[in-house]
Formats: sequence, C-alpha cells, structure tokens
Amino acid sequence: MKKILIFALMLSLSACNSDIMVDTVNPILSEWDTPFSVPPFDKIKVEHYMPAFEVAMDAQDSDIDSIINNDATPTFENTIVALDNSGSLLTRVSRLFFPLALTEADSNMLRVEGELMPILSQQGDKILLNETLFNRIKSVYDKRATLGLSPSQLRLLTKTYDRFARNGANLSDSDKDKLKQINEDLSVETVAFGNNLLAANKSFVLGINNTVDLSGLPESIRDAAAEAAVAAGSRFRYLFTLDLPSLISFITYADKRELREFLYKGYLDRCNSDNEFDNKKIVNNIVRLRTERAQLLGYDSHSEFVLDNVMAKSPENVYSLLNTLWEPALKTSKEELNEMKEIMRGKTGHDDFQSWDWWYYAEKLRRSKYDLDEEVLRPYFSLPGVRAGIFQLSNRLFGITFRPISVPVYNKDCQAYEVLDVDNTHLGILYMDFHPRSSKRGGAWCTSFRGQSFRDGERISPIVSIVCNFTPPIGNYPALLSLDEVTTFFHEFGHALHSLFSQVEYSGLRGVERDFVELPSQLLENWAFEPEMLRKYAIHYRTGQVMPDYLIEKILKSSKFNQGFTTLEYLAASITDLEIHTISDYTSLDLNKFEKEVLNTKRGMIPEIAPRYRYPYFSHIFNGGYSSGYYSYIWAEVLDKDAYSAFVESGDIFNKELADKFRVLLSSGGTLDGMTLYKQFRGAEPSQDALIKSKGFE
Ligand SMILES: [Zn+2]
Repeated sequence: MKKILIFALMLSLSACNSDIMVDTVNPILSEWDTPFSVPPFDKIKVEHYMPAFEVAMDAQDSDIDSIINNDATPTFENTIVALDNSGSLLTRVSRLFFPLALTEADSNMLRVEGELMPILSQQGDKILLNETLFNRIKSVYDKRATLGLSPSQLRLLTKTYDRFARNGANLSDSDKDKLKQINEDLSVETVAFGNNLLAANKSFVLGINNTVDLSGLPESIRDAAAEAAVAAGSRFRYLFTLDLPSLISFITYADKRELREFLYKGYLDRCNSDNEFDNKKIVNNIVRLRTERAQLLGYDSHSEFVLDNVMAKSPENVYSLLNTLWEPALKTSKEELNEMKEIMRGKTGHDDFQSWDWWYYAEKLRRSKYDLDEEVLRPYFSLPGVRAGIFQLSNRLFGITFRPISVPVYNKDCQAYEVLDVDNTHLGILYMDFHPRSSKRGGAWCTSFRGQSFRDGERISPIVSIVCNFTPPIGNYPALLSLDEVTTFFHEFGHALHSLFSQVEYSGLRGVERDFVELPSQLLENWAFEPEMLRKYAIHYRTGQVMPDYLIEKILKSSKFNQGFTTLEYLAASITDLEIHTISDYTSLDLNKFEKEVLNTKRGMIPEIAPRYRYPYFSHIFNGGYSSGYYSYIWAEVLDKDAYSAFVESGDIFNKELADKFRVLLSSGGTLDGMTLYKQFRGAEPSQDALIKSKGFE
C-alpha cells in the first residue's frame, strides 16, 4: 500500500522562529551540529523522546500564552502568523519521532508512542478549544475583507479559522458539550469496530493437510502457507488466512473451487455473521453519530462536512466522477467476465461463474493473453538501475542532481543524498530506506524529518525520507524489483519531489488537500514504463543488455489487463462510502440491503463482482481517516492522467517547459487550492478522458 504520511503535528504547524530550547544533555533539544543540520540520529536514544516532548509542549503552551496575553488588538501578524509560528520545537520533536516509530518500531519506541498519543491529543484539543485564542482568530477573520491580505495570507487565515470552527469553536456551550459527547462516543465505536475486525480476521483460517487440496498453488505460496502454519502453532500443515497476500494468492491459483469459495466467503462475511464480532450495529452507530455531528456543525450530512474543505468540495462533484467511470468500467467488466466464462466452459463444461472464481480465471486469461512472466523481468529492474533511472528522469525534467553524502543515519540500511538545484544550490536532503526489517512496518511511504520553511527570509531546506519494503538483495546480487515495486519507487519519489521543491512561506499552507496529495506521486508513475525510459534504465544486471522490445511490448499490453474489474470493485466501495455518508435523515439501516440497493439495484453491479470492501469490514471509512474519502485515489488519478497527457500531447514526454510549470505547482504546497494550482499548470480543469483511455475503456 502506498501512502504519504502527514503527521498530525497538533497545531504546531511551524518550524520557524520561536526559541529553540537548548539542553546540553538531551541531543534532541540541543543544536543539531551535523552536516546540513540533519538530526543527530547517532546520539539519540529512546529515553530522550518523552522528556523532549514535555519540554516542547511547555514551549508550545508559552507560545500560545503569549498570543492570547497580547494586549494589542488582534491582527493577522500578532495572531494568525504568531499561531503559525508557534510550537516549532514540538514540530521538530514530532517530525523526528513519528517517522522513526514506523521504521525503528521496537517495543521501547512503541511504548513511548502509546504513552504519547493521548497526551498529544489532549495538547491539540487544549489549543483548538481555547476560547480566548479563537476569539482573537475570529476577530481577525471577521474583518478579513478590509485587511489588504495577499491570496495566500487570506487562505492561511481562512484555514486557521475553519480548523477551529470545524472543531465546534462557534457552538453554544450546550452544543459544545453535545459535540464533545459525540466525539467521545465515536472514538469508542471506531475502536470497537477495529477490534472486532482484528478478532474476526484471526478467528478464520483455512487449514490444509492434504496436498491434493494445494493443487494449482506455486511452490512459493505453499512454502509461505507451511511457514504460516508453523508460526501459528497450527495442527495443520498449511495455513491460509484472510490477510490479503494469503487470500489473494490462494483464490488466484487454487484449483479446488469449494476451497476458494470457503476462503473468499470467509473474507466477504467478516463481522457480518451476527456473532460476537458483528459490526453492523457499530456501523449504524457511527453513521448516526457522524450525521448528528455534521448537522450540529451546520452541514446536511457527514459527506458535506468532510468534502467542504478538500478539492472535491461537494458530494455532487464526487458522484459526477464516479458515475462517469461506472458505465465504462461495468461494460469492460462484463467483457472480461465473458472471456473468462469461455475458459471456464472449456475447463469444467459449465459457466456458473461466481465471485470467488474471478481471480482464478483472470490469472488463466492473463497467461493466455499476455504470457507475461514477471520473474523474467526482474533482472532488468535492479534497485541501483531503477534508482539511476529515477535520478535521470528528475534531471531531465527539472535539472536537479543527487549527490551521495555521509551524514548520521537512523539505520545502517539508509542511504542519504544531497539534492542540488539546476544552479547547484542546495535544495534539500533525501534519505532512502529500501528493505524490510523486523522493526519496520509494511508498505511504502514518504515523510520528512524537517519540513521546508523560511526563517528571517532564508529558506530552511527540507529533509525528506522515502521508506519502502522492497525485495532485498541476495548474496552478492543486487535487489531485483517487481513491476509493482518499480511503480512504488516512482510513486514515493513523486511525493519526495513535492516536499523537496516546496517554497512556502507559512507552515500552515505547506500541506495540500487530501484528494490532491497523490497527484505528484501518481504522475511520476506514468514515466516508469515508457519505452523511452525503459531503454535508459531497464538494464539486465548481469549481461548489461537493455530490455528487449518484445518485453517492453508485453509490459505495455498487460497494463490494461483486468482493469474493468479492478476499477469496478474500487468504484463500488467508493460509492457505498459516499451513499452511507450522504444520509441526512438517519434511520436504522439494514446494511446488506442498503449495499444491494445502491450497487445492484440502482447501478446494475454484476453479482460476479463484490465491492472491494463491504460495510462491516470497511476499515478505511469506519476506523481510518477515509470516510467520504475513499474516492480520493481515483480523483487524483484523473488529475495525474490528465497532467501526463499534457506531456504526451506535446510530443515530448520530457518537455522541459511543462516540467517547469509543474514545478511551480509542486513548490506552491497548499498556498492556493488544488484546482487553482492545477488550472495554472494545465490551463484548464482536468478532463477524465485520459484516465478512461489509460484503462482501456474506449
Ligand atoms: Zn502516495
């Protein structure tokens, strides 16, 4: 899974100019006397964090006190900018700790994290609920039209005001109490949702002793299942679970249809079996509470509340996109289904196709149609080769270069580079941490140990970090990446460029909307498998041969494979998310019936495809940060495909002029809203045509 982590840095949105406490004992609090002022990773120990956080929170408290105790009339400078600059030490400590809590997550780090979360959450609430502070913000906000502010200053003011207002700052005391109760209830319900899901996942396994039942499964998958059985102390020789890698590999390859059915149904029915792990009542409670909260805050529905401050702006805009894509995705899925039914008839004599057959026959179809063996491609994607390709691409587009440097690292596996601008001036530092280790969480992400800022007019450069879990090197051979891993590398690098190019005055305007954040990362993916690029970087690690054209051809052809299905099951989940959160008069819902109505009855979803998530286990929206936001991935895909088509249409995918324009977007952060930035780059709003074409929906 790809993600960018934007750490909740409470309200300490700055790394600017408030006093840095100097403590000669605690290296986190001391001056960072290192090259480029990177964190002194080699000196920091786990016991330094908690005291550093305590000092930093005190410093933030006194920053806030000095704002509210200021006798002068509230102004943009003495209130909004002062708040933007407050808590810089807390930002510094948080930006150090939270990335490391993901990559160096030993029991000590996890313990500190566990102790810290409620304390930091209280610290954030303390600021958002500070009435004196809000009154000052409001008094500046109320006269905003007369202040002669620049567009970005006005945006900072509005964002600051909205953050407080959305947290209930404008409510009467009794409504504030109601809101507080709703938030508390919601946190209880969402935790219960997650716990049930975890327990339901654990309680379901497919155990196999008989090797006949393994028919069709490749050796590597059998080995993994045998290892899983040993690790779980199971009485079975092979164990398959509802974790996606295990589930998907089983339903893709297992010949035994009834076992595929057993496992897939186990997955689809999680927390939906009226047993102790059932989540249907909890989902109802969450939806009711969210609707109540939205209405308390003056919105019709939870979706309207959520979408109001992102790029999409309203449920109608999201529906419009999802509905446009629905028909072509449905049509293509039906064509894919027919092709698979033909294979099924040939194999079994019938075509009674069910949802647990999709992966199995899709794999058969993929082999017959594209004959693409990923293992043959890996030798062309050595990690150093792919990295060189990405560096070259960045250089061709933006003129930047990368210089290996020797600086303190948080793990010996990390590599560090200085990033230099066209004129060789310093742009930032980039850490890269590629391979799994026991202390590292799964997935891939991009984060920063220091965000870009300005101090006394001077740009403080960012320290960015890319973290992945790529196939490790074996013996003397370099790491050889899969297609998916290559894509991930380009993706995370796009996020890194976004941070590295940042030129934003106010810390509170560095971040972008949730449905805009994946544009730079997904845009970069477009170059990964362009023939012109592959011929530059896809070099066989042993023979030094460039990837032959017939392999390049196969990669390109297979990119459209199964797109109907992938898109439709994704859209289905985005739609169920939106349908349930646009409810404005909540009454108790029969979730299974509701899902059927909005997908099958209303939109003609075929029963051979299940939505990617069903309500009782849709953790993104009921126990993650994606409620009314699951659409964001495809929203950003519209942007990235449309943006990339500008390069293609120009006849030069390395078009320097367009790259320069895109750099303006990258360096602007959130100083303007996403659509304005996009239109400045493209000269028009994005069209969905390029996305539809890229999926082969023509
Ligand atoms: Zn991402």
